[in-house]
Amino acid sequence: MIYLDNAATTKPCEAAIAAVTEMMTENFGNPSSLHRAGLDAQLAMDKARKIIASALGADSSNIIFTSGATESSNLAIRGACAAYGRKRRKIVASSVEHASVDETLTAMEKSGFEIVRVSPRGDGKFYPVDFLNACDDNTVLLTMMQVNNETGHILPVKETFATVKRKFPEIITHSDCVQAFMKLNISAKTLNADLISLSGHKVHAPKGVGALYIKKGIRVLPLVTGGKQEKGIRSGTESVPLICGFGAAVESLRPTIASRYDHAAELKNALVDAVSGIDGVTVNSPEDSSPYIVNLSAAGKRSEIILHYLESFGIYVSSGSACSKGQQSGVLGQFGIHGKSADSALRVSFCEDTTVEEIKIFAEKLHEGINSVRG
Ligand code: PLP
Repeated sequence: MIYLDNAATTKPCEAAIAAVTEMMTENFGNPSSLHRAGLDAQLAMDKARKIIASALGADSSNIIFTSGATESSNLAIRGACAAYGRKRRKIVASSVEHASVDETLTAMEKSGFEIVRVSPRGDGKFYPVDFLNACDDNTVLLTMMQVNNETGHILPVKETFATVKRKFPEIITHSDCVQAFMKLNISAKTLNADLISLSGHKVHAPKGVGALYIKKGIRVLPLVTGGKQEKGIRSGTESVPLICGFGAAVESLRPTIASRYDHAAELKNALVDAVSGIDGVTVNSPEDSSPYIVNLSAAGKRSEIILHYLESFGIYVSSGSACSKGQQSGVLGQFGIHGKSADSALRVSFCEDTTVEEIKIFAEKLHEGINSVRG
């Protein structure tokens, strides 16, 4: 198998599997229990919380565990608007957010909030001043992802949040950092973010676990009420095995952020090089994108057809965003990729295990596929 779909999900690493196993076999207590088994589970979870917080340049007290980034972003947006949005009724967002944010905004619109989606300019870039101009005294929240999951575009979150906070310090800032965490150097402080969504399964941890960073002093009302776990912000017995798997994965990735980035950049260059010789193939990701994600258009051939052709050789890529199950999300259009170019878009995404050799095989089979399939 040549797995080139790491933006959809990653293979759990050995450290994560070992931690999950340990917490399901030896250390299976309920962290809320007052006895030793409960305390041991609590200590293991505290360790994971500390590792994840520290990877974000934050304190353990800032981290709330969730079932994944979809829940984190729902909690961030709905919870912050419940806390601060009684009088301020406008939310500003980038126009290329993942469905977990964008669909939440659509739901908020139905409940009476005004949503302003800021698009990139003709050059495909977002400008902080465009977000500033969209904000006013009625704005409660600004949400902007760090790395786009379909194209790898890096959005100017740090600059935008700083610009907006300077004029409107009361606006709550949220960033979906799912595709940036453990790949780019991000820190909660330098991002100027009040809220940050993270997902475990994009960083070699299991599926079904995520985290929400909440800056000290920022209020987020709970979506789920109950036993007051996670400081009452997210009730329900914590999934200790998954949380510890998340912690173990982050711990093992942390020392290699720089070298893994360089490796991804090498893979991106190799891919761009290899497809440059194929007639009609265009690379949609900009030069300065996250090197982990490359979006390209396969000479007008429908994405699914090429995807399944590649699959027949054990090569796995994605058509657009895996989260939208092949449905076009509109994100490519926002970046100026329309018509046949959008219909033939493929997303290739890497991890540290991906090799240049695999990229060459992918390019060879892509070339073959374009020449041999119809449609
Ligand atoms: N945000 C981005 C940018 C993503 O790529 C994804 C998953 O594809 C999510 C959010 C959703 O994460 P989860 O699967 O943990 O809910």
